[in-house]
Amino acid sequence: MVETALCAFCESSNLKLITDTVRFDHKADVYQCEDCGLTFLDQSSFKFPEDFYQSDYHQTYLTHIEPDAVDPQKYFDKMLKATRIWADRLIPTLKGDEKVLDVGCSSGHFMSLIKDHVGEIHGSELNQKEIAFCREHLGFDVSDQPLEQRFGAGQFDVITMIFVLEHIAQPVEFLNHLKTLLKPDGRLVILVPNVKDALVNFYDLPEFKRFYYCIEHLYYYDDKTLGRLLSDCGLRGDVQIVQEYPITNHINWAYTRGPSDVLASRRGVPNVPLDASVPLDAWENLWAEFNRLYSRFLKEHGYGDRVWCDVRKV
Ligand SMILES: [Zn+2]
Repeated sequence: MVETALCAFCESSNLKLITDTVRFDHKADVYQCEDCGLTFLDQSSFKFPEDFYQSDYHQTYLTHIEPDAVDPQKYFDKMLKATRIWADRLIPTLKGDEKVLDVGCSSGHFMSLIKDHVGEIHGSELNQKEIAFCREHLGFDVSDQPLEQRFGAGQFDVITMIFVLEHIAQPVEFLNHLKTLLKPDGRLVILVPNVKDALVNFYDLPEFKRFYYCIEHLYYYDDKTLGRLLSDCGLRGDVQIVQEYPITNHINWAYTRGPSDVLASRRGVPNVPLDASVPLDAWENLWAEFNRLYSRFLKEHGYGDRVWCDVRKV
């Protein structure tokens, strides 16, 4: 029991300290609420650097494993591949004439993947280099201006937030604000990391936990806590757990005790040199089959590394 911190959702003081040290050895307290189940970073335990998202985010957050992240073009090329599975999930649900807003659009990779499947698309971003890249190289309408200054109420058919909500300090206020921008039957599509990730809970890998919790992620949602947040904000719909990373990523973590880069970590076959004579297709099919079995196993036991939400105003 901790006296000083309170649950960010239910204000309970019945908290379990998960860790007091996060990625890059930053000192910050992460708690899980014993009453409502929310896992969150105690924002009073840590001072967030000023203008972090305007300038520093990718430079400090990603470049230890991905030096490319500081170059918007290289980051865009890489994320175009990494984000495709989420675009492929969204595109079949679109009619083709929607007005879309991508909040936290970064280098514009997700916008690029869906732009030909919607009527009109706009982006919101804080990072100055990425805003310039989106405008000058991709021709997108992207800005860091407050949304209410750019758009009137009730304009959007779809608002997407791909790995953004976990960074938002006041999610209730933020979601309520986004709701005002949605048409009456508009959709909010949200993707966040799931704290029920097998690398956090199934395996006992202190190195992964030290990597997983970080100062940028203020909330560590799962399907239940995020579902409740959305419901509290008057948003209902589909909230489901998805496993993105393949079995090879988990094996890699287990043996190397460290992360791989964005694309390497998503490769579904082991990173092992093969003789030129091997039947490559059969080898890849074998690992695809392992991966299907593994994903099913994780799902059956309540694990998964992402939460995908597709919700509407009640
Ligand atoms: Zn709570």
